[in-house]
Formats: sequence, C-alpha cells, structure tokens
Amino acid sequence: MNEKTVAIIQARYDSSRLPGKALAKIGGLEALGWVVRAARSVPQVDAVVVATSNLESENPIAVWCAENDVDCFRGEKEDVLARMMAAAEQYNADIVVRLTGDCPFLDPAVCGQLLIKRRLGNFVYATNSHPASWPDGLDCEAFTIDALRDAAREARLPSEREHVTRWIRGNKSRFPQTVLSCPLPKMSDQRWTLDEEGDLLFLQSVAEHLDVARPPAYVEVLDVLERNPAILESRHQSERNSKLAEVLAADFQSPHYRNRSYQRSLEGLRRAEKIIPTGAQTFSKSKLIFPAGKAPLFVSHGLGARIWDIDGNEYVDMVGALLPNVLGYADPDVDGAIREQLSFGISHSLSVELEVELAERIVRHLPCAEMVRFSKNGTDATSGAVRIARAYTGRDRIAVGGYHGWQDWYIGSTTRNKGIPKATAELTHQFDANDLGALRSVLESHAGEFAAVLIEPLAAKTPTGEHLKALKELVNEHGALLVFDEVITGFRVALGGAQSLYGVKPDLVCLGKALGNGMPISALAGRGDVMAQFEDVFLSGTFGGEALSLAAAIATVDKIECEGVTEKLARDGAAMAKMVEETAIRYNLQDVVSVTGHDSWKHIVLKEHPNGDPFEIRTFVMRQMFDNGVLIAASHNMSYAFSEANKVILEMAYDKAFSNLSRALEYGPLSESLDCKPIRPVFSVRK
Ligand code: PMP
Repeated sequence: MNEKTVAIIQARYDSSRLPGKALAKIGGLEALGWVVRAARSVPQVDAVVVATSNLESENPIAVWCAENDVDCFRGEKEDVLARMMAAAEQYNADIVVRLTGDCPFLDPAVCGQLLIKRRLGNFVYATNSHPASWPDGLDCEAFTIDALRDAAREARLPSEREHVTRWIRGNKSRFPQTVLSCPLPKMSDQRWTLDEEGDLLFLQSVAEHLDVARPPAYVEVLDVLERNPAILESRHQSERNSKLAEVLAADFQSPHYRNRSYQRSLEGLRRAEKIIPTGAQTFSKSKLIFPAGKAPLFVSHGLGARIWDIDGNEYVDMVGALLPNVLGYADPDVDGAIREQLSFGISHSLSVELEVELAERIVRHLPCAEMVRFSKNGTDATSGAVRIARAYTGRDRIAVGGYHGWQDWYIGSTTRNKGIPKATAELTHQFDANDLGALRSVLESHAGEFAAVLIEPLAAKTPTGEHLKALKELVNEHGALLVFDEVITGFRVALGGAQSLYGVKPDLVCLGKALGNGMPISALAGRGDVMAQFEDVFLSGTFGGEALSLAAAIATVDKIECEGVTEKLARDGAAMAKMVEETAIRYNLQDVVSVTGHDSWKHIVLKEHPNGDPFEIRTFVMRQMFDNGVLIAASHNMSYAFSEANKVILEMAYDKAFSNLSRALEYGPLSESLDCKPIRPVFSVRK
C-alpha cells in the first residue's frame, strides 16, 4: 500500500452560534487540539492538515496551528469544495479523510475501521454518517482524490460546493460507496458535536471524567454518560442537520438545479429491455407510467424521504416505493432489527417465534383480527382471503371494489386480462365501492352465489362510517364475507387501519406494504372461525416465515405505535394538501387541480382544461415536478421521515409546476408545450 492518506480537518473560528468555537477549551485542550490528536492516532493516516478559509477572522486558527506544529491550509471561503481540493493537491493526497473541527470526541478506531473498510472493498467513498447511526460528532468520510477532483470539476449546486462530499454521495452509481454503521442501537440521537454553548458545557462535563491525555474511544464516552446520568439530563437537544432546509432552498434558486439529465436511466432501460420485459418488475415503476425519455427510471439509493436516481438527481420521494415506506428509507430502528436478525438466519427449516410475536401485535391492533397468516405480497393476502371465503361459504363468486393484486381471480375482471381463463374471469364482478346500489345489483344478479366482497375501505374517496356499515349489512344479508383490503391503509391511516377509523369490522383484512417498511411481508387476518379453515385449506409458501421481514415488521409496528407515526403522516399530509390547493388557487388552476382521500395518502386529481386533457396535464406536471426535484406519481404517499427540508422543496416545486402549467394552458394547446408524448392510461383500477 503506497497510497498517501491525508486527513483534512475543516475548521471554523468565526461561528455565529459559538464564536471562537474551534479553540474553545475542553478539559484543558482546545477543541481543535482534540480533533488533531485523534486524527494523528488514526491507523493509516499519513498526514493531518487543518483547512480553513482565508478570511481574517479565521487567523486565530492559523496562529494556533503554527504554535502547535500543525499544518494549516487556507483557501476559498465560499467554495469549500475547491478549498478541499486545493488542500488535498498541495499535500499530494491519494486518499482524503474528511474530518471537521467540531468533533472533539472523534474516535481514531472508528475512523481506522472506515479507512480499512473502504480499502478492502475497493470503494471510492466511505462514510459513517449517511445514514446517521453513530452519535453525532464521530463523523468521518474517506474518498479517493479522483472522486474529489470529479466533484470539484462537475458539482454545480451551492449545497454541493459547501458540503464537500454531497455530490459524490448523490452519484452512487458512479462512485461505489460503503457505510460503516454503528454496531450499537439508538446511538444517532446522541449529540457530541460542538456547535453551541450547550454543546460546550456538555463536552466539558464529559471530559472531566475522561483521561484527557489521549483521544477517547466512543465506548468510553458512553461509559461516562451511563455512570453520570446527570450530564445527559442537563442537556438540551437540537436537531441534526437543522440547516438543511435553507441549504436546499438555495439550491432550488440555482439555474443548475433544473438542469437534469436522465441519460443513465435511458441507457439502463435500453439494457434492461433486451432481457426484462417492460424493463421493470412492478407495473407502476415501469416506463409504462412515466413520460417517455423524460423521467428517471432507475434509482441508486434512498435516505429518509429522499431518493437519488442513477444520474445523480436528487428528489423528495412522494412515491415511497408505492407506499411501503411508511417510516422512510434506512430507518435506524427497522434496519437495526434486520441486522440483528441477519446474524441468526434468514429462512429456517421450521417456524420461528417471530411469527407468533408479530401475529400477537396484529391481533392486538386490528379490531377484526383474531387469527393471522403471513405471506410476501399483498396479492398473497387477498388471494388467501378469496380462497378461504370460498371454502367457508361453499360459493364461487367474488365482488371486487378496488385494486387487489395480480392473480387470475382479480385481474380477470380488469382490462389487462390476457392469459386468464374465461371461466375464472366470469366469477369476479367489479363494482364501485362507493356505490351501495351497484353492489346490491351485483349481489342480486347471482343471489346466494357470492363468497366474498372485497373493497379498499378507503382510497381516492373517503367513505363515511354509515356507508361502510350499510355495506357490511348488505354483504351479510347476502351471506358473503366482507374483506377489507387494507394493503395500503393498514398501518398508514391508523395503527388499527381504516376499520378502526370508521368503527366497522370486516370478516377478514389484508395487510401488506407499510407492515414491513419496505421488507416483503403481507398478512391475512380476521375472524377465528373463518381463519381456522386454513387447517384444511391450502396456503403455503417457502418464504411465509422469512425472519428478516418479520423482524422488520415488528420494529415497524412498534415504532408506529410508540412514536405517533400515523398522526404525523396525517398532519404533514394535511399541510401538504392545503399547500397544493392554495398553490392551485394562486395560479388560477382550482378547476384543474383537486386533492382527495386520506391525509396520509392524498390523491392529486388533475382534470380536463379546454387546452389540455387530463393525461397531457399529468404528463406536464410530472415533468415539471421531476425537473424541480420531486418524484411523484399521482399521490402524496407520506412517510414519517418527511422533514421540514422536504416540505420546502415540495412547496417550491409545486409553485414552479403550477405557474408553468397555468402559463402553458393560457398560451394554447398543452400538447404544444410538452416535450414528450403524453402518458396514456394503460390500466385504470381505482374509481
Ligand atoms: N391491494 C391493494 C389495495 C394494493 O394497493 C395492492 C398493491 N398495489 C395489492 C393489493 C397487491 O399487493 P402486491 O402488489 O404487494 O401483491
């Protein structure tokens, strides 16, 4: 190994929140002194340099460095990325370790592990702070000089010039990267950085209990905190990344923000189409529903409520993986539960107790649930419901009032019915779930032959409790079972699903999506006497008891219960819906745009205008939203990770989209303003 590894510590003296912070004393040593000492103790580091701006107000840092025999590099104030590049070049770095002066308790062993992990896996970039899993204040990143050079040359946005590695991280498919996660749970809530007066007092109190002659290991700091609970009790907490909203707002104003290329996505599609029909696995993630050639089609990664495509474009993700991401990407609690289970096996030769533990939670939370079975897809749950209902009632016909998955018994009743035997299709009858009369006619058309009525109790339209009660009575009168397909609404609209919101208990409920926060798991639950038929009725799959998904689901359900998750989804969703309506009014689009459905899953309905049909309008709006940093299909699929910074982007994107739409519609036929073919409905299921 003859690479030169240079640790560059970004330091600031003139902080507005804590003037002189780099040289504030902790346990007799300046904060910067702690970081320099730790950096020098990191295995593999060949040189340590402090980098600061050439502003006069930063002179004390240079003076301190000179007095303490520490290399100091001074450069550009505004362009931190250029400063970093210049420092790295001056010190002939092959590998740069980026550290910051506000992390006095930096742990050399953690940084050392990060460096070795990067090298062993031949990664271009390594971080321990995205996603956050360590206490805030142990941040360390390592990357090649080539990646830094590319960033310095290509990164355009203000946030990318200020936050040195943001651009590299965003381009994950170009720069292979790795994350060193904290092995201990619940650490990311801890704050050990130096930003404010309160931080300084905290660090000083901890240092009183440390051996100040050497850099502390993070476990030693944890030990001090455990033995001295008073230190934590006196501590105020401020939010990590609290300035992100401002930073992103500045990006949005930059002309480079909208200059997005989807080139890699298009190349990916060309490659995929040769060997993967439609180029995708899920209909609603495929080219069929996106503006042709003008949309992202492949993502590289997600974090919180954001997602990056393989061209390096960043988005606020309002799709949320088609609704499973109720908490968000890389949720620390769910991911921690998956990691824990991973050490003990994924699929096993017998059942695991996790199945019982999750079933007990579902029985506790879902009013209609007395017994439970698990599967992988929502379709498994709805298909299981149909089979058990047919077995229980001895009847064959099914009435459906929503979207219920890809199996024959349902898809046969839609326009996408190729490959389905007529005999099967004829047994399923569609009706509008909001129309009681329609259901009555269907049930009466073959009286005494219906095994089950499946509905999404809550979709684009919110029902009333009276409607659902009347519907239940009608279904009961006809001797059929009522199945609530809560694949979307379960663990989203409320912990107990739509049935708890409306006080109507179905015979069976289907759950999926949000249950595992993205892990493949679904559940069928309901009346004990019906579910007990599964002793004889066949429902069986290799992966029904797969343990990672069960562990993830337990962590997800518990977090939803303990942290008021569904309340936050509804609160944020309501605020965003109001914002959409107000923005529409501002641009005189109130007749074109309306918002319907539950706050946690609001549908953005786009209607006819004399100068544009709804599909042209949707295509135009999608194009605008993508270019303005929002990934959206037709609804706001809220997640718990949705933050103030995400809100700011969403608002600004709608403002741009609607202002441009309004102008285009005034100007003439919208087709003339579109730079691609409008998307067309290939398949419509929700009324
Ligand atoms: N029911 C509803 C209400 C759904 O939204 C979906 C999926 N969109 C399904 C069933 C089928 O679930 P899956 O795609 O996981 O099979």
